[in-house]
Parts: sequence; C-alpha cells; structure tokens
Amino acid sequence: MTHKLAFADDHFHDECGVFGVFGHPEAANLTYLGLYALQHRGQESAGIVSSDGSELYLHRAMGEAEEIFVPGVLAKLPGPLAIGHTRYSTAGDKALLNAQPIMIDCNKGKVALGHNGNLTNAAEWRRKLEHRGSIFQTNSDTEVIVHLIARSQARNLSGALGDALNQVEGAYSLLVLTQDELIAVRDPRGFRPLVLGRLTIPTGGEAWLVASETCAFDLLDAQYVREIEPGEMVRISRSGIESIHFAPEKPRQQCIFEHVYFARPDSIIFGRSVNESREALGRLLAREHPVEADIVVPVPDSGVPAAVGYSLESKIPFRMGLIRNHYIGRTFIEPSQAIRNFGVKLKLNPVRGLIEGQRIILVDDSIVRGTTSRKIVRMVREAGAREVHVRISCPPTISPCYYGVDTPTREELIASSNSPEDICKFLGADSLGYVSLPALRQAVNDTKGNFCTSCYTGVYPTDLVQLEVRESNGNAFDNTTLEKPVPVEHEV
Ligand code: AMP
Repeated sequence: MTHKLAFADDHFHDECGVFGVFGHPEAANLTYLGLYALQHRGQESAGIVSSDGSELYLHRAMGEAEEIFVPGVLAKLPGPLAIGHTRYSTAGDKALLNAQPIMIDCNKGKVALGHNGNLTNAAEWRRKLEHRGSIFQTNSDTEVIVHLIARSQARNLSGALGDALNQVEGAYSLLVLTQDELIAVRDPRGFRPLVLGRLTIPTGGEAWLVASETCAFDLLDAQYVREIEPGEMVRISRSGIESIHFAPEKPRQQCIFEHVYFARPDSIIFGRSVNESREALGRLLAREHPVEADIVVPVPDSGVPAAVGYSLESKIPFRMGLIRNHYIGRTFIEPSQAIRNFGVKLKLNPVRGLIEGQRIILVDDSIVRGTTSRKIVRMVREAGAREVHVRISCPPTISPCYYGVDTPTREELIASSNSPEDICKFLGADSLGYVSLPALRQAVNDTKGNFCTSCYTGVYPTDLVQLEVRESNGNAFDNTTLEKPVPVEHEV
C-alpha cells in the first residue's frame, strides 16, 4: 500500500475580518460600515447575511466592500440581524465559491457562518467526512465546521456548535447567524481577535455588535464592551446575552503579528492599543540597533508608528521620505507575481528633496520574501540617499503561519534560510537590524507568555496534522452513510 503525506491545511491561508449586528433596524448597513473599517484584513471578497426573523438573505461578491454593497444591494438585505465577512486568501484560489459567509440549510435550521482563522486538522476531518458521505461544496476549512454541526446529536444550535468546535483544532474567531440569534465564538487559545460592542439606537434601545477589531466600533460611535474570551461562545438572542464556556481553557496563543502588522493601529487588540505596541517596538529597535544617521523614514503605512518610536528614542528626526499612493491595493495582497513587481513603483515614491545626500534609517514592520524591501532600498538610493540602514520592527520571519495570516511557504521566506547579514546584502542596504523576540514580547506587554510567536520560532502551539493518505482503498475510515447537509443559498 502506498502512503503519502499531505499537509493538513493544504497551505490554505485566510486573512479575514468579521462583523456582526444584533438588534438594529439597519443591521446590514451597519455591517457594511463595519466591513469598510475592517477592509485592511482582506480585500478579495466580501459578503453579508442578514435575517428579518424568518428568512436569511445573502450577498457575496469578489472585491472590496465599497464596490459590492451599493444601496440597491443593501436594500435587499433586510432585518435587524446581520453578519459580514471580508476575505483574502492565497492558494491560487479566487473563487467566489469560497467567499464567506457560508450559508446552509440543515437539520438545525438555516445557519450562516463567517470565520477568521485556519483550522489545523481540517483536511483530516474533511477526508473522514467525505468517506462517510458528506459532500463538500467549497474547499474552505470552515465547511468542516458546518458538516460537524449537522452531524451533532445536540438539540440546539449552540450545543451542536460546541460539539463541532470541540472536534476541530486551530484558530477560529467565528460569527454564526440564525433567523433569530447571533453567536460569536473564539477558539480556546484565542489566536485571532474578536470583540463585543454596544450601540445606542437614537430611536430607543440598544444593539449588540461583534467585530474583529475595535476600529469598526469607532466608525459607528459604538462602545467597546470587552473581548470575547478564548473558549467562550457568546449567544445573543431576544432573551438577552448569554456566555457559554464550551471548551476547557488552554494556554493563550494570541497572534503577535496582529500587533506587528495586521491590525489597524487605532484598534485595541487583546486588550492593548496596537499603536502603543508599535511605538514601543520602534523605541526598542532604536535601543537594540542604534546607528548614526540624519533622518528616520518609515515605509508607509505599516512602518509609521515604529518609525515614530525609533525617532523619539534616537532623537533622529522623523521625515516622510516615501509617499504612498493610497488608491491601489496593498502589493502583497496581489497574488500575481507580475503585478507585485509592478506594484512597488505604483505604491511608493521617494521625496527626493528629503532624501538626497542623507543617511537614512528606513523602518518597516517586517520582511517576508524580501523582494519589496529590496526594491524600496534601491528606490531610496536612486533618490540620492548616501546610506540606507534598514530597521525591522519584528524578528526574522522564519516559519509560515497556520492560524490565519497569509505567509508564503518556508522556502519563500527569506529569513528561513538566510542570516541577517545575507539578507542585508540581498537588500543592498548598509546595515540591517531586526527587533529581538524578547523586545517584541515586551512591546506587546506579554508578561505571561500569552502570545503565539510561531512565525518567528517555528514552534507551533498545536499539532500540525500530517495526514496519512491511503491511496488505494478508503479503509482508514469507516464508511457509514451520514446525512448530507445540502447547502442552499439564496443569493440576492
Ligand atoms: P517583502 O519585502 O517583499 O518581504 O515585503 C514586506 C512587506 O510586506 C512589509 O512592508 C510588510 O508590511 C508587508 N507584509 C508582511 N506580511 C504581510 C501580510 N501577511 N499581508 C500583507 N502584507 C504583509
């Protein structure tokens, strides 16, 4: 019998934002605004499902929230409940089929799900479920949760959801919508953020909101109440708000990269201001890697808060020596290599008058493949910089993320096989300095070891299931025929 090894997640990485509303007459409109504020978490597709108490209404499309949710579309998403999702994924997968929320009609009723994160045993479960007769409609790992919900013997949805989630591993900040309830869940390790908010309705009453980041509450003038706790399921219905701890507590593994790069600096993530973390990173970077220079220049936008911190600590003036064109997508987000190369020039342009003849400290948040950073160094030199010292406000990224951040394979990560000296040469810089891991932990105020740092250490907090695939017959699993939840979608 031949055996082959397949990675459990098939390198299927999602970057996403989620937003939900309970109890507001304009739930879909608020969800659209919430997605607008969370757009940085994914620009490839977006979707909203609303409920008017008896029916669920779905609209999903490729693109950004602003292009998709025009007034005519929002008008067809009625009711006081809604969830929304914005997504970017790699793996050459641009299909609308994988856009979220996912909506199904199963033995637990009509259910919609929006998921941020990645499951690490999804492929293993998928294979088992397929052997038992389940039919999958998408290749997103979120669908595994859907099938496990449908198979649960529990009488109500929250029970079935708990059953399903206790069988999966990995990262999930999940919103679930039914005709009359909104459920928000965070995995027991709390990899990805998820926050609860409250909004006073001018005509009376209050609505509950759930979001990936607090910046979405700010846009709506809503109040940030608290985080959804790791291992907590918050169920919001007409009878009120209920908190269920569906899984035993596990050591926290909050994604440190949210503070480094992913979240917006105006958000509070894991109870801490992202801007504060980034400025602290810049200060620590200046202490760990000082250099004599004339100006500190950020790579906008992601390098700005750390460059401010570097400048404050080193007393070297902060100057906006690179200007970003905001009217194009983030280059990293474009999956095609050809567009990415072109994108650097489209995206950034040096201010020659600031840079010419100067010794520059160029601050960015991270180096992934190194290709963008190399082009930026070249661009700054071509604008007349005398010296270019690159400073990075996180440690070398040596290992891919399996919990919901889009990183390329280990081979493509320049720091996985090159020393900082080699990377410095590749970039064409005069010097290169990365902030250390202890400094990063200090910057996010991690005194208790509550953060996942696997992209910097290669040490993963969950098993990464290496699935044994039996190629001839399927006798690794039983072949009991199970009910097949047939996804029924009402696209509007
Ligand atoms: P490169 O020099 O080609 O490795 O690109 C590094 C740039 O990509 C940095 O400026 C980061 O801000 C950005 N970046 C890092 N990680 C991600 C990510 N997961 N999604 C989008 N952009 C990222």
